[in-house]
Amino acid sequence: MGKNVRMPQSLAPPPVTVGSRRVVAPSVERIRAALRFDVATARATAEATVDFCGGAVDGYPALDLRQPLDWVRLDGRELPTDAWAHADLGGGGDSRMRVLDIVVDAGSRHVLEVGYQLETPDCVGSQPIGWTHDGVTFDFWMSDLQPGRYLEMWVPAPLVHDRFALHLEVAVEGTDRPHLLLANTAGVDADPARRTWSVLYPTHFTALSPMLVLGPADALEVRRSAFGLAGRGRSLGLVTARHSDADADLGACEADLQGWLSYLATRYPPWVHGDTYWAVIWAPGRGMEYDGATTASVAALEHEVFHSWFGRGVKPARASDGWIDEAFTVWSTAAHRAEPPRYGAEHLPLDETPVVLYPSHPWSRHTPLESYREGARLFSGIAHLLGGPDRLRAAMADWYRANAGGLVTTDGLGAHLKLWSGIDISPWWARYVHGRE
Ligand SMILES: [Zn+2]
Repeated sequence: MGKNVRMPQSLAPPPVTVGSRRVVAPSVERIRAALRFDVATARATAEATVDFCGGAVDGYPALDLRQPLDWVRLDGRELPTDAWAHADLGGGGDSRMRVLDIVVDAGSRHVLEVGYQLETPDCVGSQPIGWTHDGVTFDFWMSDLQPGRYLEMWVPAPLVHDRFALHLEVAVEGTDRPHLLLANTAGVDADPARRTWSVLYPTHFTALSPMLVLGPADALEVRRSAFGLAGRGRSLGLVTARHSDADADLGACEADLQGWLSYLATRYPPWVHGDTYWAVIWAPGRGMEYDGATTASVAALEHEVFHSWFGRGVKPARASDGWIDEAFTVWSTAAHRAEPPRYGAEHLPLDETPVVLYPSHPWSRHTPLESYREGARLFSGIAHLLGGPDRLRAAMADWYRANAGGLVTTDGLGAHLKLWSGIDISPWWARYVHGRE
């Protein structure tokens, strides 16, 4: 099927007029990038090529990249670097995008090429490249919580409604030390010396999908196993890795991962990712989900595994839809005293302070922190309305199955819950999702 059949443009944010410019979301088909890490000089450089089509209407196309530019070319023509500068599109916080200062016709094909130094991305909470003696430690280290924290930290990328082919060439230079690259795709080719890789990600990935972890091979412990998963004819491979400064029993983590993955495959079929699940264990205080993969502390592992169903098995169509997966994941896996209890079902009165879980601006780019606690309370309230936690889980299993592998919206979930249960949940949706009095 053609791209537009799979991915209707209607999930893109509508054009927004800023000053005299009508800014549009283009449709990205392919991104290729070469990332070079020179250990001898502790410097990294990148070159990237983006094949894209103009948006639904003529306008100035917006993508993002949180790195300073050395040069820019559009359709083979050199442009000044400020012809692809950041602009505030009204999405709030740090949700600025880089807008090409050229009108492109709706649907017309273009090639954007950029060269840049790879530095600590210019966004809240981003992490520097880890230069160590004779090696480099690198991790995409994405986050939902701040704008600009997906692929666009390192490589030019569109917003999360857009699916594209992503091909990375990664090279570690200036050292003889073998390195290990872990990525959530079967399409990794490593050279025998283990210092250059070609990484091809699945074409249904969006900017929040790809995991990439790179480090000296002797600083990463890796276990590989395989086990049966409900609904699959062949076994699922499991790669469990640990950075040497993370204090974790890798065998115990592997056993837990197999348990959670087996259970969730039974409870929420189908499994929509590839033939392997990747888990990279890091020190406490972090956790991030990717499509069929996670980088997480031991304490966050169960939460992040759950996201391979809700969050990356069905993915938010816009950043504003990201509250759903955090809320439902906390409701389903809560392990901390700070979180409402797992599988709660408590009456939620309609006179509490309204909560905004869905930022209304279509170019908004973050998941509000309230999604975790207040969002889980909302699901507890909906479980109560529906007749108990088992009813909510059955409703969510049906919603997941209907959308598996696709993009989901807040409106779509609201409509599903109403239709599934015959109960009008819209007053709760209005007050505790959209923050309306
Ligand atoms: Zn989460």
